[in-house]
Amino acid sequence: MCVANVFARMNSKPGGPAVKFINPSRVFHKILTTRMQQILRLKPIYQERVWGGRGLESSLHRSLPANRPIGESWEIVDRPEAQSMVANGEFAGKSLREIIQTHSAEVMGPRWSKEKAFPILVKWLDCRERLSLQVHPPASIASQLKGEPKTENWYIAEAAPGSHLIVGLKRGATKEKFESALRDLSLEECVHRFPVNVGDSILVHSGQVHAIDGGNLILEIQQNSDTTYRVYDWGRVGLDGKPRQMHVSESLASIAWNDFEPSPVRGEAKAAVIADAAEFRIRRVPLAAGTTFSLKAHEDVRILSVVSGELEEVSGTKEALSRGDNVILPYAGSFEFRVRTPAMLLLTEKFT
Ligand SMILES: [Zn+2]
Repeated sequence: MCVANVFARMNSKPGGPAVKFINPSRVFHKILTTRMQQILRLKPIYQERVWGGRGLESSLHRSLPANRPIGESWEIVDRPEAQSMVANGEFAGKSLREIIQTHSAEVMGPRWSKEKAFPILVKWLDCRERLSLQVHPPASIASQLKGEPKTENWYIAEAAPGSHLIVGLKRGATKEKFESALRDLSLEECVHRFPVNVGDSILVHSGQVHAIDGGNLILEIQQNSDTTYRVYDWGRVGLDGKPRQMHVSESLASIAWNDFEPSPVRGEAKAAVIADAAEFRIRRVPLAAGTTFSLKAHEDVRILSVVSGELEEVSGTKEALSRGDNVILPYAGSFEFRVRTPAMLLLTEKFT
């Protein structure tokens, strides 16, 4: 931002005086304290889950709370019950909420309201056992059910031999067949289960019934929401030994009954848009060692996820990024990187 812009902005506040005296030393102070041009690295928040394990430790070299099954790492989150804290640079120790409150235009772009939460939640999922069959409410009925919609994308970072996902209904399934299979404990016959490999990816819309089988390490990029309706838990109990709470009526109201057998985007070492939803877009960017690339300021706020390889920032704070890292690249920053070892990056952008 140049000095002239700061003057123009300060003099043209809606509702403010037409001409305002500005003390120059305060202007320079403002320039220095409103620069938000660094990569924002955030501290992970680890979550214990009945289906989790220690894969974030063995595969991503994270130091986890001891002796517990860790299923999720919340990498980027701005919610009342969970806040990412900045881990690097001059904003270290501040929450993502504070950063957006004080620097919304620099982080999110000029049209972002500082009260509006960061719209994307990024998680690593270490699924050692199958997750419950679940669904998130579509936007059209979410408020009626007092929930939030959630469209999410899964990128498979590691898959044990024979790994599967479950997304959508099997062709021919109806609400009536689904309800009767729920009673007979034979729901596998109604849902679309398919094998996956490393690099595969699938966009799961609100309303698509879904589950993840054991053996998958997944990067989940989703709308900022935590409304999940579980419809079936494959006969399993929770960490306390009791069956977990199910939300059958909410699930049946949320499931898209006309959604059959969606296909994943298969993994390939070529650049592509792998998810293009109303809420976000994800680009897959494979890069060879030695490549340099840059992202210009004032285009978009982005999330950079490193699913394999290593790179280093050659601009700014010279952050080193490696497999597992998810960082925010603020709108006002321009960033240049050099790839150290062959890398696969995901760039999430065009948030709404
Ligand atoms: Zn989900």
